[in-house]
Amino acid sequence: MRVTVLGGSGAFPEHGRGCSGYLIRHDGFALLVDPGYATHLKLLEHVTVAEVGAVLVTHGHPDHCADLHPLLRSRAMSGVADPLPVHAPAGALDAVLALDGPATLAGAYELHDLPMPGRLEIGPIGVDTVPLPHFVPNAGVRLTAGGKSVAYTGDGGGRDAFVPLARGADLLIAEATHATELPPRMAGNLGTAAEAGVLAARAGAKALWLTHLWPGSDHAEHLTAAGGSAAAGGSAAAAGSAAAGGSAAAAGSAAAGGSAAASAAACRFAGPVTVAVPDLDWEA
Ligand SMILES: [Zn+2]
Repeated sequence: MRVTVLGGSGAFPEHGRGCSGYLIRHDGFALLVDPGYATHLKLLEHVTVAEVGAVLVTHGHPDHCADLHPLLRSRAMSGVADPLPVHAPAGALDAVLALDGPATLAGAYELHDLPMPGRLEIGPIGVDTVPLPHFVPNAGVRLTAGGKSVAYTGDGGGRDAFVPLARGADLLIAEATHATELPPRMAGNLGTAAEAGVLAARAGAKALWLTHLWPGSDHAEHLTAAGGSAAAGGSAAAAGSAAAGGSAAAAGSAAAGGSAAASAAACRFAGPVTVAVPDLDWEA
């Protein structure tokens, strides 16, 4: 299974980086997960619109699904015959699918309500889902193919509910909107890099990607908060590549003050941690 990042920015795109978007490829099949704002052009660098075999959307916020529209419009207007299977929570895509009159996209897609919790097969990829707290219905997912597994939170607070689905995952992709603290309006509905590190440690994931960072965030701060070994001040790329083999103590030293932070640091992730940026690639 191969995973390629198409964006990774949270909420809105930033220079050179679209929002959530992941291309999952296995055995000749391409699954597009969360086609958020400004991910479509990056998608086209890796596959044609006709080569996309299915789409999986974790929730209906536009930073996770807005670029479904150019994909469907392209397929409809360029004569791709097969309707594209699209899996999303019930009603999540009503707004984006209403951007055109019904005739324009007619036959371009077939919509499937995503069971939450549930299990389904999308091409050769097994998908397990669990609902995670968010402002709208949101699915955390585990994708399995070829004996490997990738767990992805979508946007989701309440990380306890995701531990079983992330257990032993070869790669965990975790929303980490801020490094250590969330504004009160986000609390419980989104997560931090520090929480992502705890989740990865509790689940025993083998590698962690931090995603959905607020635009303009300091990537090194997120890496440190999650428990990566990256030294503060390093570039995101350098930090990510240096993450493997880092000590938990180094990560813990950067923890925010307070006993809660101290206990979180105690179970932060000591494996490789990377910030999800466009073209970041993982294959196993
Ligand atoms: Zn969201």
